[in-house]
Amino acid sequence: MHGLMQDWPLLCHKVLDHAAAYHGGREIISRSVEGPFHTTTYSDLRKRALRCAKRLDMAGIGNGDRVATLAWNTWRHLEAWYGLLGIGAVYHTVNPRLFPEQIVWIINHAEDRLIFVDLTFLPIIEAIRDKLPTIERVIVLTDADHMPELKIDAVDYESWLAEADSDFAWKEFDENQAAGMCYTSGTTGNPKGVVYSHRSNVLHAMAACVPDMLGLSSRDRIMPVVPMFHANCWSIAFTAPMSGATMVMPGGKMDGASIFECLDTHKVTVTAAVPTVWLMLLQYLEESGKSLDILERVVIGGSACPRAMIETFQNVYNVEVIHAWGMTEMSPLGTLCSMKPEVADLSGDDKLDLQEKQGHPPFTVEMKITDDDNRSQPWDGETYGKLKVRGPAVAKAYFKGDGGRIVDDEGYFDTGDVAHVDANGYMQITDRSKDVIKSGGEWISSIELENIAVGHADVAEAAVIGVAHPKWDERPLLIIVAKPGVSVDGADILDYMRPKVAKWWMPDAVEFIDEIPHTATGKIQKMALRDQFADYVFE
Ligand code: ADP
Repeated sequence: MHGLMQDWPLLCHKVLDHAAAYHGGREIISRSVEGPFHTTTYSDLRKRALRCAKRLDMAGIGNGDRVATLAWNTWRHLEAWYGLLGIGAVYHTVNPRLFPEQIVWIINHAEDRLIFVDLTFLPIIEAIRDKLPTIERVIVLTDADHMPELKIDAVDYESWLAEADSDFAWKEFDENQAAGMCYTSGTTGNPKGVVYSHRSNVLHAMAACVPDMLGLSSRDRIMPVVPMFHANCWSIAFTAPMSGATMVMPGGKMDGASIFECLDTHKVTVTAAVPTVWLMLLQYLEESGKSLDILERVVIGGSACPRAMIETFQNVYNVEVIHAWGMTEMSPLGTLCSMKPEVADLSGDDKLDLQEKQGHPPFTVEMKITDDDNRSQPWDGETYGKLKVRGPAVAKAYFKGDGGRIVDDEGYFDTGDVAHVDANGYMQITDRSKDVIKSGGEWISSIELENIAVGHADVAEAAVIGVAHPKWDERPLLIIVAKPGVSVDGADILDYMRPKVAKWWMPDAVEFIDEIPHTATGKIQKMALRDQFADYVFE
């Protein structure tokens, strides 16, 4: 016997319909790439998204066609995103921080037909245009007045859009149709394309909105500092309109002062980004003596959030930290660290201990930790294993079948992370499996050591890598970037760490460098550091 409910396919653009119908006057405020702040509403954004859909349709773009975007978070990017969704085309957000050769590779692999590009990234496109044979047209996300002289053929978005009106209806199609694409950084081998469906995006956003996850409401004013090109924008391009929250889009300025200006001027209540962004903000706040009076919570993920960062946000600025873990392959949210009743009374150090964990999954994410033989490990908060996940918004394959089969017989995807889970279901990442330090047959967590080291007042950033050791296989080397203008020595940092770290985990040496290399998504580039210190010998 079947249920007798209506067929109502879970299509992403219905999210925008909902926002326009019930939260139509709510604003989307963006720092434009041209400079000034720009304000629109869900209702107007929907009209322009429909116009964009019609214009795309006129250009012959339709079902399954991939279209690249190389753009910051602004209203134009958002309306192009929904315009594509509404005709069954596929938004393909490209990370402009990748090397030009990687961008070429990704666009050609995706066979993108058009590209929407911000003024900021025109030099990239000018340099690689002749290597992009599938791209039929370059559309610059600006108006005619701001269009610069270009070496390539391109049209400004506003003139292009003006060739259509908004008298258009979204196309109808199956909810399993592809909606978006995002390539993983691919620290080894070529990047791999993750393909989201309409259904997976909608389900994922619904699961992510609930109070124990992002907890969004129409009273929130959310600023996704995380770019739309990083891991499906952490779903905020869907969760914000779904909950009717005001959106503040930071555009292209990511420095501490500019992020503060957006937070403060536009009264942001919740925001989200990787730790490196918050490092810049906290440094700016320290230097300027400014405070965060309106901001209520900050979602931090993409890399482990250092304890010192949680402590500073909460104790100095009265902003609650929500530590989150996820990955491009998971749409991307996997776990969020909200306080269940079992832990709600924790305070001080005990609360920080808990918040260093990446948290517990929303409905739709099933997780397990296993040993090398795929046997599930106990959830005791100590026994670690490979972290595996499954669910309706978790990848089952990469675009064009790259990488072959990526799920086990039970449909679980191996995240490549090593983690333990406690009795309350809180997961903690101890490392990327390729970054764990294998010392005397035991594993040392580089993340834990890094988190402790950045707690030292003079340390700006820390990385720990395993370096070959004749007796122990590998031993940890601590690499430090000191805060500007301070002089600190390695022995002092080790003294600070000693009471907090098991003896055999203590780094064997400390090295200072001016800058730690980061990936295009703000993660510490351990491979580059391992190369840099490949010949390192402990004294
Ligand atoms: P990319 O590989 O393109 O940078 P992802 O953002 O998909 O993209 O990377 C996912 C990986 O980032 C995870 O598998 C995990 O190793 C790491 N990660 C994400 N969030 C956290 C976190 N809160 N703590 C530790 N590691 C994290």
